[in-house]
Amino acid sequence: ENSMSSILVIAEHLEGKLKGATLNAVTFANQAAELAGHDVIGVVLGSSAGAAATELANHVPKVISIDGDAFKNYLAETYTPVIAALAEEFDAEIICAGSTTTGKDYLPRVCAALEGGFVSDVIEVYNDADEDQLAYKRPIWAGNLIERVTSDADVTCATIRTTAFDDSAGGVGGSVETRTGGEAPANAEFLRFHLVESNRPDLTDADVIVAGGRGLKSADAFGMIEALADKLGGAVGASRAAVDSGYAPNDWQIGQTGKIVAPNLYIAAAISGAIQHLAGMKGSKVIVAINKDPEAPIFQVSDYGLVADAFKAVPELTEKL
Ligand code: FAD
Repeated sequence: ENSMSSILVIAEHLEGKLKGATLNAVTFANQAAELAGHDVIGVVLGSSAGAAATELANHVPKVISIDGDAFKNYLAETYTPVIAALAEEFDAEIICAGSTTTGKDYLPRVCAALEGGFVSDVIEVYNDADEDQLAYKRPIWAGNLIERVTSDADVTCATIRTTAFDDSAGGVGGSVETRTGGEAPANAEFLRFHLVESNRPDLTDADVIVAGGRGLKSADAFGMIEALADKLGGAVGASRAAVDSGYAPNDWQIGQTGKIVAPNLYIAAAISGAIQHLAGMKGSKVIVAINKDPEAPIFQVSDYGLVADAFKAVPELTEKL
């Protein structure tokens, strides 16, 4: 292996702080680097994002921080050419980012620009003995099968399933090289960022999640789910059926077509446990299910099952806590 080639980790940050997903991507990058003998380089694109760059340098030996007004508000169109140019400058073999809505937005474009190979939702990286190259594992079919993927392209772009990699421990003391750059794209314009104001933790970062399903039968009934979540300092989640029925907002959806979460504690109330829901939460450490149907499939993955009416059990639990 050419020891000059590198792995780029692209940071995601908000208000000077790295998003948790970036620390999982760093762990993936370090593992891949160890297997392939590459240098890991962190990349921060931002406007006055020095604090995020400093934070990233605690996790990787070298950070390239590109400062520019064009990066004030995220757009895939501003990220793509700059990352593609860095990939060429540093002879990147792998470019990775967390498998978040942002990572999934720009990284395929970077890949297309470089005519690279793409691996999405990586859960493991290893040396494939047969092929004598890096190989990746990723879940398919709602997590029922694990696929092994190798890439023959010169550069491979990978989004990282954050729940499959620990947070990077840090303590590296890397360097930050700050440059200026970034250009406003001709074909796209930032209009607004709709920030959902919440005092609760982000679903994907939360230690505790209380989620409700269609069995709650109304948006009002989610009030008791929120009360329990607040008691535990947790986030609120929902099944797709609850979201589709208008009981819960879209960004609460957990599952195959929603968020993938793995908190220490996941409480599912009035959720049946369809495979598409399990695909988003079965990695949780402790799963508690409250369902009035003893045959509900959620009980097959739960550590603690309560066959009960959620309208009774949830307020009682909140009260006891
Ligand atoms: P139901 O299946 O209707 O279950 C309600 C449950 O509540 C039942 O088990 C019932 O016993 C229980 N219940 C009713 N009343 C009470 C009560 N008073 N107390 C206690 N329990 C009660 N789903 C997701 O969640 N996330 C996804 O990302 C997702 N993606 C999908 C993608 C595809 C391509 C497809 C086809 C489906 C997807 N689904 C997803 C939908 C999934 O198949 C299920 O339809 C959905 O998860 C069901 O939601 P639910 O469990 O809330 O509702």
